[in-house]
Amino acid sequence: MSKFWSPIVVTLHPYVAGEQPAIANLTKLNTNENPWGPSPRALDAIRTATDDNLRLYPDPSAKKLKETLAAYHGVSPDEIFVGNGSDEVLAFIFAGLLKHDAPLLYPDITYSFYPTYSRFFDIETKTIPLDDSLSIRIDDYHIDCGGIILPNPNAPTGIGLPLSDIQRLVATHPDQVVAIDEAYVDFGGETAIPLVRDHDNLIVVRTFSKSRSLAGMRVGYAVAQRPLIEALERLKDSFNSYPLDRLAQVAAIASIEDEDWFVTHRDKLIANRAWLSEQLEARGFDILPSQANFIFARKPGWEGKLLATALRERAILVRHFNQPRIADFLRISIGTEEQCERLVSALDSILA
Ligand SMILES: *Cc1c(COP(=O)(O)O)cnc(C)c1O
Repeated sequence: MSKFWSPIVVTLHPYVAGEQPAIANLTKLNTNENPWGPSPRALDAIRTATDDNLRLYPDPSAKKLKETLAAYHGVSPDEIFVGNGSDEVLAFIFAGLLKHDAPLLYPDITYSFYPTYSRFFDIETKTIPLDDSLSIRIDDYHIDCGGIILPNPNAPTGIGLPLSDIQRLVATHPDQVVAIDEAYVDFGGETAIPLVRDHDNLIVVRTFSKSRSLAGMRVGYAVAQRPLIEALERLKDSFNSYPLDRLAQVAAIASIEDEDWFVTHRDKLIANRAWLSEQLEARGFDILPSQANFIFARKPGWEGKLLATALRERAILVRHFNQPRIADFLRISIGTEEQCERLVSALDSILA
């Protein structure tokens, strides 16, 4: 606290990111990063763009990236908004589309940036409890509200909703914006992007950080009809004209163009998720059905915090949330084959 702080600084509850410690030989399964490096074509594009042109500002509208994404998703380039990571895209959505007189709805257990942004932008909220199986129940959102946001698949549970549920949610709230955060959809979920054509209240948010292994480049985007995108552009151009630097733009384009890398690594991740789930189930863990690049697991009779601490002592990081209903769970990012094996043998020595 300091007398120099504006009042808003005092009232904030900053998001606490998973740790990024500088420990050698760490098995890092705590922040849902991709365990493999990005497409070599993305790395080449970054190297090629690393030249004297860096003295120039980047394209403020990221035209070529939007055209590439538009072709990929079958929408128009002006139906795409790009930002400095999907976190920034989400921030603009909170400020520009979800702040209204009625409360914003989101699940009680979800991405913890949502309460942080709500406070930052002074948005009234109402959390909707997950059901007993820790799933989102769409019918519970059928109440008066100013907007809705949820991840699909949800985090940290990994549980996805079928497209028919998202369609019903969007159709039953024609006067509110429904934002679907698809950070993990590539690992087995169903995307809502095809619904954008028929629904002027839907906005779908995507990131290059997980399935495209470019968390370090900070690229995210949203897909919606023109009026919603225009709101985000007005905010962006009142805040920072150049959210995506030159290297981020070329890396993202090259990544989208390398469909082989994408499919191969997505499939490897899904195979490792199946293997790790099977191994943990054989050791008595309960695992929620995951469509994401992590699993949410608990071992009956063992405290989540205790297991996380014991793993940490063996140089393996997983994420534990000290929160009601989920305190017994560990969120484990899916790693390489070798990382998954290391986790399983560490658990064997802890449980022995
Ligand atoms: C990782 C994540 C994001 C943020 O992704 P960035 O593009 O790296 O900012 C957004 N939403 C959810 C649910 C996530 O897990």
